[in-house]
Amino acid sequence: MANRKVITVFGATGAQGGSVAKALLESKHFAVRALTRDVTRPKALELQGLGAEVVKGDLNDKASVETALKGAYGAFVVTNFWEHFSKDKEVCQGKLVADTAKRLGLKHVVYSGLENVEQLSGGKLRVPHFDGKGEVEEYFWSIGVPMTSVRLAAYFENFLTSWKPAKAPDGDYYTLALPMGDVPMDGISVADIGAAVSSIFNSPEEFIGKAVGLSAEALTTQQYADVLSKSLGKDVRDAKITPEAYEKLGFPAAKELADMCRFYQMKPERDVKLTHRLNPKVRSFSQFISENLGAFKDI
Ligand code: NAP
Repeated sequence: MANRKVITVFGATGAQGGSVAKALLESKHFAVRALTRDVTRPKALELQGLGAEVVKGDLNDKASVETALKGAYGAFVVTNFWEHFSKDKEVCQGKLVADTAKRLGLKHVVYSGLENVEQLSGGKLRVPHFDGKGEVEEYFWSIGVPMTSVRLAAYFENFLTSWKPAKAPDGDYYTLALPMGDVPMDGISVADIGAAVSSIFNSPEEFIGKAVGLSAEALTTQQYADVLSKSLGKDVRDAKITPEAYEKLGFPAAKELADMCRFYQMKPERDVKLTHRLNPKVRSFSQFISENLGAFKDI
């Protein structure tokens, strides 16, 4: 262990970082330094039990980011827009890691990025939780950090929570409200990204300087509904909601998510074939749902 190169994993107690930390620990090629604001959290203790060095750190604190990256070979970096809903804050956190990685001479950063949709759409669409990450991607590369951006497809896990089928008010069926029209939307279980990121760390020469779109498969809303119908034994249908109707639903970020789906309808590059090469065990939506039936007990 002592001789292994160290990879600092940000967000290690969360979905993405947790998946990456566990995959790196399992592969045994690197030592893992897991970052959290609270080292007593059960997920932090679990990682410690699996062999990670758990350190306290905060993305808003320059000194702790420096401590987290000191002596590390590489880092997996994820920032959590949904904790504060602020693009500026997310950009600030990302740039702090980029500047520190540059100063300390890290050899390979894998950053969980996304496209700058506002820039790509000429200002027509605004998806702040994408836009900020796009700005940070550019920044990493512009200052010369050896960085691979992984652009994740929508998590399949969203179907267990915010995208769970809703009971139709007028009948004995359920609807799936994803404003995608007939365009397939890429998806992946966040639990499966770790092995793919681990493969990327093992092939720096192939992936440094590139953006890699990770996706297990792309399905239309009707196809997602069909899988849910079959797996749950319920009648699940595409609600056929338009982005215009979706953005009027009134919940926080409804407009942002409607614009995200408008962007998804433009088919941003997510590479299913490459994802399967990076993680041959990546699960299909059908496999994922069949392993998570417990989450649908209440419908
Ligand atoms: P998560 O499960 O909620 O975990 C968030 C992690 O971030 C925790 O480990 C937390 O650590 C850490 N964190 C938050 N603020 C921090 C700070 N100031 N300093 C240090 N660590 C901090 O989140 P996730 O799902 O892994 O990642 C969220 C990101 O994924 C979002 O930005 C979102 O845009 C992106 N994303 C989501 C999807 C999707 O379909 N849902 C798809 C692509 C990308 P502690 O609390 O332990 O400190």
